[in-house]
Amino acid sequence: MKETRCIVVGGGYAGINAVKAIEKAFGSREGLPTLRIILMDKHPYHLRKVLLFKPAAVENEEITVPLARLLPQDVDFVQATVTGIESDARRVHYVNNQGNEQVMEYDILVLAAGSIIRQPDSEKGGIALTGLAAAQSIRETWRANLRKATKMEDRAERERLMTITVAGAGISGIETSAELAYAAREDVNALGLEPNAVAVKLINANNRLFPDGPVKVGTKLERMLEAGGVTVLHNRKVLQEKDGVLTLSDGSIIPSGLCVWTLGLLPNPMLSGLGVPLTADGYIAVDASYRVQRAPGLYAIGDCAEIIDPASGLADGKTCKEATAQASRLAQVIAADLMGRPAPTHKRFMDFFCFGLGPQRGMAWTRAWGIDMIFTGKLGWRLREFTWKSASLLK
Ligand SMILES: Cc1cc2nc3c(=O)[nH]c(=O)nc-3n(C[C@H](O)[C@H](O)[C@H](O)COP(=O)(O)OP(=O)(O)OC[C@H]3O[C@@H](n4cnc5c(N)ncnc54)[C@H](O)[C@@H]3O)c2cc1C
Repeated sequence: MKETRCIVVGGGYAGINAVKAIEKAFGSREGLPTLRIILMDKHPYHLRKVLLFKPAAVENEEITVPLARLLPQDVDFVQATVTGIESDARRVHYVNNQGNEQVMEYDILVLAAGSIIRQPDSEKGGIALTGLAAAQSIRETWRANLRKATKMEDRAERERLMTITVAGAGISGIETSAELAYAAREDVNALGLEPNAVAVKLINANNRLFPDGPVKVGTKLERMLEAGGVTVLHNRKVLQEKDGVLTLSDGSIIPSGLCVWTLGLLPNPMLSGLGVPLTADGYIAVDASYRVQRAPGLYAIGDCAEIIDPASGLADGKTCKEATAQASRLAQVIAADLMGRPAPTHKRFMDFFCFGLGPQRGMAWTRAWGIDMIFTGKLGWRLREFTWKSASLLK
């Protein structure tokens, strides 16, 4: 009997959770075919993308997990870069890790190839926190600045070398600035430099932090950041870093030894070559059950898809918690589609956000029954840590 082959593309948060949910649903339900599940990713590891600020702040911080360790035993892994799809013939084209072009047939294909991190044009200077190499380069630049600062007689130049500016104040910018401020103090103390000379500035284009939630959450975040040594500057953008001086949109300048850009996410450029329908913003267009129209057996979830709640008309955000919830529902959709039954449809995830504010410090906010709940202290940190770990299937 021909095997039913299910290929999941992408071992990020959406992909690994989809593999786990599909394996569980098909392993336990009678009447369903036995699936052969294959995960494809260009890397042999799952990148804990949300922790990119860690290797930027601390040497040798490991934020990758080998996919072979994460996957259920009966799931196969193929390290390959997907380059195309023939949705009529149900075939996926890819380049394997020896550089050979190959083709594999599928019955079910789940696209979970994620997004990329936005970076400014190279003439704008600074370092965008786009991946592991960029994180390490941020750390090396800071260490080199500190080495120069220990020998620097000129006070203004020493202070410039010890100033870090984070441009972009979304969750990534908030967490990055908090972690860098903590690590910078540790480094400065270890070298016997003056701790007060360290300055970490977070530049926010908006008039407050966390515009997706209530004002009091933004205010509390700002207070906690300031207590951790981060100064938040609102209503301005960094235009450019040149020769260690930043020019801001309000005309002011900041002498700064290190400028880190945290500018959010963009659609994976690979999507435009796949021949699947895209939205005007460049994400895969799917129906309310994550199906790509006119392409039987083809589904998309996570950051690479535009997912709309049919009840509210609101689009899901590009976050791990949303990707993880979509992955669980997708397993039920695939099972229903294979059995010819009505499939579940997407429902928006509850409002829930966590923020890491340096080692052992965190905050979480949710709204239930119209009431805002804010968690700080140990609980805030535990919630933050739990969400980081559970999204990556770690205990
Ligand atoms: C710095 C930062 C901080 C963040 N903080 C938070 C946070 O605190 N909370 C939160 O909920 N969200 C956060 N996010 C957003 C979150 O990381 C994304 O929503 C999440 O990664 C989406 O998961 P995904 O699986 O769709 O995509 P990804 O995690 O991007 O995974 C995509 C996978 O696809 C693979 N891939 C890509 N192209 C191909 C190809 N052609 N062939 C094969 N494999 C391919 C990649 O190697 C990768 O493994 C943050 C994002 C960043 C960048």
